[in-house]
Amino acid sequence: MEPLNDYPVPALHRFERLPDGFIDTPVERLGKILPGPSLIRIEGEPGPPLFVSILLHGNETTGFDAMQRILAGYDAPRRLLPRPVLLFVGNVAAAVRGVRKLDGQADYNRIWHDERYPEHRLAREVMAEVAKAAPLAAIDLHNNTGKNPHYGCVNRLDDATLSLARRFSRTMVWFTQPQEVISIALSRICPSVTLECGVSGNAAGTSHVENYLRHCLELSAEALFTPPPNHLSDLFHTTARIIVPEGVRVEFGASSDNADLCLREDLECLNFERVPEGAELGSYRGSVTPLVVIDNEERDVTSRYLRFSEERIITKLPIVPSMFTRDVRVIMQDCLGYIMEPYEVKREV
Ligand SMILES: [Zn+2]
Repeated sequence: MEPLNDYPVPALHRFERLPDGFIDTPVERLGKILPGPSLIRIEGEPGPPLFVSILLHGNETTGFDAMQRILAGYDAPRRLLPRPVLLFVGNVAAAVRGVRKLDGQADYNRIWHDERYPEHRLAREVMAEVAKAAPLAAIDLHNNTGKNPHYGCVNRLDDATLSLARRFSRTMVWFTQPQEVISIALSRICPSVTLECGVSGNAAGTSHVENYLRHCLELSAEALFTPPPNHLSDLFHTTARIIVPEGVRVEFGASSDNADLCLREDLECLNFERVPEGAELGSYRGSVTPLVVIDNEERDVTSRYLRFSEERIITKLPIVPSMFTRDVRVIMQDCLGYIMEPYEVKREV
């Protein structure tokens, strides 16, 4: 476990109304409005609230931008929203500095299971409040760094959950690992989705999320949870993740003397594509183990998916990758990407 002593245990700040200035404060000044991780109740017409979480990763701002726009559009808090919102603003300190997390902090989307980090107490407090509020649905908003379509992730395969994701995109991913994410904890309380909204700061992404949230606030529960026809057409199941072992120096494109592992230039373009058996992902130097593949049961399944031969990395099976990224910091903090397979929900007739 990495040392996590540099920062005090983060306290949860509770707001019973939207703080003044929230709507037009740029993210780098958010610390002036919110002293840290905050749970904000925003009034709406009577009924169960919509739970929305943003900035669990500080440099993923589309959710924040979209929330500002939608709250301004409804003139909150002066006017009631169509339904109440319980808004969790996660890693404010990292957001102010424009990074996923600060050194020494736990990853705010890996603290929702288990008890290892000081941040787990924060997570427990948030979940207790959410359970008490009994939300209609929960939406966790993220960006990624690679070239990916907008897509919704689910952790359960019931109609309500799939409908909530399908309303955002026809591309959907079912995953059960990592199990420490907020959406899995929320899925035990209500239909819950993680939305991956492309790269941070993209205006089209912000509009997409804003429209989606408007639907979630204005549609009846019945309409929100009714599956559209053919709603399962692009459902993938995440079966493994690919990690770069610690200490391995990564580069992209032509290999140089400074890298142990050299990944293909266009790696990100493989996301959500069917990559055949025998495809080359990159090259490596000498005796290093360049990549490790871990399945959902935390087993090393590298030899099932990849062949290392003559310093080249070759796929042994057809795979559909996601979240392949060229951001070396993200690769080393999190992973290189995920391996998925197309999935069909079998229903009893
Ligand atoms: Zn994220």
